[in-house]
Amino acid sequence: MTARVLDGKALSAKLRARVAEAAKGLPNTPGLAVVLVGEDPASQVYVRNKHRQAEEAGFKSFVHRLPADTPEDEVVALVERLNGDEAVDGILVQMPLPGGMDALRVIAAIDPDKDVDGLTETNAGRLLLGRRGLVPCTPQGSMMLAAEALPDLTGKTAVVVGRSILVGKPLALLLQAANATVTMAHSRTADLQAVCREADVLCAAVGRPGLLTKDHVKLGAVVIDVGINRVDAPEKGEGKTKLVGDVAPDAAEVAGAMTPVPGGVGPMTIACLLRNTVLAAARRRGLADPDV
Ligand code: NAD
Repeated sequence: MTARVLDGKALSAKLRARVAEAAKGLPNTPGLAVVLVGEDPASQVYVRNKHRQAEEAGFKSFVHRLPADTPEDEVVALVERLNGDEAVDGILVQMPLPGGMDALRVIAAIDPDKDVDGLTETNAGRLLLGRRGLVPCTPQGSMMLAAEALPDLTGKTAVVVGRSILVGKPLALLLQAANATVTMAHSRTADLQAVCREADVLCAAVGRPGLLTKDHVKLGAVVIDVGINRVDAPEKGEGKTKLVGDVAPDAAEVAGAMTPVPGGVGPMTIACLLRNTVLAAARRRGLADPDV
């Protein structure tokens, strides 16, 4: 068996087209503000991509670049100003913040109804309670990719490896809400292989290249690989690197469907950020959620 490839590039392009259409239907142009503190090279790339894709979706995009030594109070003050800015529907503070800065305090300053990363306590609470809120983008994108292979998760067994606040925990809640029976595995799980082999849907969000292999995968399972790891790639030339996931390529021999890295969950994450922004924009105008 060779797993069907769950193409996040193609799916995210469709989602972005729906988002752009929904944005056109709103009385005002949705606005996304991204705050970048410091010069982290990966963050610079992410922010550039978010800015470009927001503009392509027809949004107003506001990027605020602050030096790494900006006092925390100033970052909080900027977030508070954006909370009150009518042109801004979504606020994203790019993580990680420079060392020494209290990320929780900065996140807590974001108006929950503009929190398009879904990281505030209010949105985490809404997700836990099953109430309407803004859901973290990577788990949301993972769900959409899983639905490509398994549209109905009712009665299915799902295993999420990794229990981070950003990915693992919200993903487990979304899978439960979709009627899957969910197990969370993590660094202290006793027999990871046995737990994973129970999964109809196996999600890896760990950050360890090739942690899961074909021996962790049940025949025909849907595998969602959230991991993004940069590793040496001597085959591409000296000093070259490449991106790989948490799941080894041999898992495709056993899985029924599997997301690639790159080109799987990654592109879905930004598309879901745009989706959250258009949802936030509609809700802030008292309109029904657009169908995105
Ligand atoms: P994290 O470091 O916050 O969490 C990692 C989790 O993995 C922890 O809960 C830990 O318990 C678990 N873990 C560590 N070692 C383990 C082991 N040996 N066995 C089982 N579990 C183990 O990471 P994160 O922020 O959740 O990110 C996870 C991965 O997903 C990273 O590679 C990150 O780059 C990637 N990521 C991708 C996207 C995307 O857009 N595709 C977005 C966010 C994160």
